[in-house]
Amino acid sequence: MTAAPVLPSVDKLLQHPRSIDLLGEYGKTQTTEAIRTALAHARSLWRAQPEAGHAPSNEALLDQAEQALKTRMAPRLKAVFNLTGTVLHTNLGRALLPQEAIDAVTEALQTPSNLEYDLETGGRGDRDDLVEALICELTGAEAATIVNNNAAAVLLCLNTLTAGQEAIVSRGELVEIGGAFRIPDIMQRAGAKLVEVGTTNRTHARDYETAITEATGLLMKVHCSNYAISGFTKAVSDAEVGQIAHASQLPLMVDLGSGTLVDLRQWGLPHEVTVRETIAAGADLVTFSGDKLLGGPQAGIIAGRKDLVAQIKKNPLKRALRVGKLTLAALEPTLRLYLHPEQLAQRLTTLRLFTRSAEAMQAQAEQLIPVLQTALGSDYVVAQAPMHSQIGSGALPVESLPSHGLVIRPAERKQSGRQLHRLETALRQLHRPVIGRLQDDALWLDLRCLEEADQALFTAQLAQLTVQLNLPHTPQKDAP
Ligand SMILES: *Cc1c(COP(=O)(O)O)cnc(C)c1O
Repeated sequence: MTAAPVLPSVDKLLQHPRSIDLLGEYGKTQTTEAIRTALAHARSLWRAQPEAGHAPSNEALLDQAEQALKTRMAPRLKAVFNLTGTVLHTNLGRALLPQEAIDAVTEALQTPSNLEYDLETGGRGDRDDLVEALICELTGAEAATIVNNNAAAVLLCLNTLTAGQEAIVSRGELVEIGGAFRIPDIMQRAGAKLVEVGTTNRTHARDYETAITEATGLLMKVHCSNYAISGFTKAVSDAEVGQIAHASQLPLMVDLGSGTLVDLRQWGLPHEVTVRETIAAGADLVTFSGDKLLGGPQAGIIAGRKDLVAQIKKNPLKRALRVGKLTLAALEPTLRLYLHPEQLAQRLTTLRLFTRSAEAMQAQAEQLIPVLQTALGSDYVVAQAPMHSQIGSGALPVESLPSHGLVIRPAERKQSGRQLHRLETALRQLHRPVIGRLQDDALWLDLRCLEEADQALFTAQLAQLTVQLNLPHTPQKDAP
């Protein structure tokens, strides 16, 4: 057995000139710890393979320590380029907020505010008051309250209005939204007994009528957010279910999911039922998300009848599900933009993205092709193509927006799966990761969410892509 390698002491490495920078940047506690870990690693390597063993140089040990410190201090939440073609991408953070909301959040972060303070009386206020009047004006509701997200809104409404009682829902609307939000599970946790009526594809008015008993607490409609039932189908309209509910003095609750505040057809987008239309049709309570079509922060908005909202606000769960000041700071100016519909498509970021013209994206594609082709070299072929973006987050699942972007294919068919994987990985490892989608043996980069203002940032890091692609990588199996 070879003798154990002679390793420097922690103190010796801390006195190395390179440690001055590390100590300055990361401090004594972390730097000492990182050096200690690098030494322990060298010792355990030697123990595992003594015959291979010579001691690593001081530089190599400090390299390791520095790398570990860098990784440890790098932010985990990173900005990325969303070129997936899905604008409201749940995994990429859904809605991007308008400048007015960003400014308000920045201020709320650093100064005290009247979050729950009535400036007229000097007494305690109610945080919902900051946005309730705006929501009522924009939806026609009598009252409104805000919670953490729409799942919380559904839970809170059901728990308040049906605890121990039955909630009637059509079988065709027992949806699962990605990330484990399932109507039957939420019902159970809310303490409501689910009564399913109709069949998966067809539900009739009489199905609701015959299900109503003494034990019924409410009737519920759920927006089919992320799927569509087509073919031989029948659903009962909100207005009709509302009439059936009201004939038995029961409330109708509608989980709208995305819940837009405006008719999107005025911008040439597909129609999505609005909150106002749903309330006008007879819904007593409507729940919807703040960060889907509305284009604001994550939140769940409950809008509807005054007496029901008052009951909901008294539920102790409301306190557990309430929103923080940052959410309200962002929501208020976002809602206010809707008072000026003529400018909404410029100022509300999500709507601006939905309404970008395919021609604008095509012009961008033409500028980007040569730059990207140069960065990728001869292993790949970059072309432009029309494509289709999705609104995302369950809004209008079967509709898509004509879009334009780049399609990158490996130059050789041989090993093209591996080449694509290599490219996709390299893009994800950029300083600001680029997320596209793999489709038809190519990588698709939809340019809808790359606004002109971000294009310089996008191209600036492409030189780094050349480096990433040429780094040795762990071989992966070819994609099938
Ligand atoms: C998205 C959605 C939810 C969940 O909303 P979150 O704000 O993500 O909690 C609930 N119901 C429907 C119909 C939805 O589309």
